[in-house]
Amino acid sequence: MNEAVRHTHPILFPVRDNCLTLGGTPLSRLVERVGYTPFYAYDRRLITQRVSELRAALPVDIHLHYAIKANPMPAVVQHLAGLVDGFDVASAGEMKTALDTPMVPEKISFAGPGKTERELWQATAAGIVINLESGRELDILARAGRELGLRPKIAVRVNPDFELKSSGMKMGGGPKPFGVDVERVPELLARMAGLPVDFHGFHIFSGSQNLKAESIMEAQRNTFELARRLAANAPGPVRLLNLGGGFGIPYFPGERPLDLGAVGGHLAGLMPAARRDFPEAEFVIELGRYLVGEAGVYVARVLDRKESRGQVFLVVDGGLHHHLSASGNFGQVIRKNYPVLVGNRVAAVAMGTASVVGPLCTPLDLLADRMPLGHAEVGDLVVILQSGAYGLTSSPMAFLGHPPALEVLV
Ligand SMILES: *Cc1c(COP(=O)(O)O)cnc(C)c1O
Repeated sequence: MNEAVRHTHPILFPVRDNCLTLGGTPLSRLVERVGYTPFYAYDRRLITQRVSELRAALPVDIHLHYAIKANPMPAVVQHLAGLVDGFDVASAGEMKTALDTPMVPEKISFAGPGKTERELWQATAAGIVINLESGRELDILARAGRELGLRPKIAVRVNPDFELKSSGMKMGGGPKPFGVDVERVPELLARMAGLPVDFHGFHIFSGSQNLKAESIMEAQRNTFELARRLAANAPGPVRLLNLGGGFGIPYFPGERPLDLGAVGGHLAGLMPAARRDFPEAEFVIELGRYLVGEAGVYVARVLDRKESRGQVFLVVDGGLHHHLSASGNFGQVIRKNYPVLVGNRVAAVAMGTASVVGPLCTPLDLLADRMPLGHAEVGDLVVILQSGAYGLTSSPMAFLGHPPALEVLV
């Protein structure tokens, strides 16, 4: 075989002289500037571009929020602060990251089951919107509001009676720890009416990582319907209606990008009725991976090249301790390969199939399983694409005690 390797995944980063460029810098030079492998690099231009694409496709009065858990690197969050309309946080730590940016507190919301009493007090003091997940949270917030002389801003997070079909992760419909079951919401709203809290609206998030425009469209229709039913019992006008998100990105062979135009067009059709029925509402879509996932790569250096009974193994200096998702151990049922290439020899002669493994002494530390790769030697740079979301902070960094990975925004 003497052909250049064929990449089945589109590469969003320009390739110059056979080398991937990130933020305009060839990877071989970026590695010298970082001074260390492995690292994650996030391309600010691609993040900006993604937000522009969304703005162009979605109705103008749909506001975009970034869900920080997808990538909480402070520089990334700072960059996004100038691009999106709000942030969603899921811990006091993420709340701090969000409040460190110029984003105003009213545009930050806090979701997650099991918020501690301390976190609820902090969120009240910060003046951010709290997505209410239980009656217990309401009791604590009412107390915090009284003692702090503030009215906590509350949006009720609803566990809907429908699901987002074909999602990578379902987070609504059926029994769930997230939000309040829709059938219990009226009772909670009635209680809220007698408490010193500020009702803002509803947060209805049904799932994540969805590539089917049809499913997202159906969930959005259902979400508006549900909000209409619930608003009848609300203690005040709906000022915030968070429609969830769930926009997915393609990771695996055969997956096609989400048809954003179809989602935007359909949503535009739903908006006139929504504006009529919720005249005071701000409409929000909250996205994590869709904003940052495709803008990031993970880079590791080949430490060893071994052959074992006919199979080539590239042993690299990074692994599942930095990138659990790419190893297939973060929510995948059947392990599939992320798109992987040799970043300093993008069009190298194909070596047939090779596996990329990390330094950990476990068979789980597998970054690419027998996939077509260009020829690579010790010292070459293996790049995992689609790594801008659920990377470093979703990984068991302490496992086996290897050095950490760095992160750069380029
Ligand atoms: C995780 C999460 C998100 C982000 O999900 P993505 O798949 O990254 O878009 C948004 N909202 C809530 C409530 C979440 O829990």
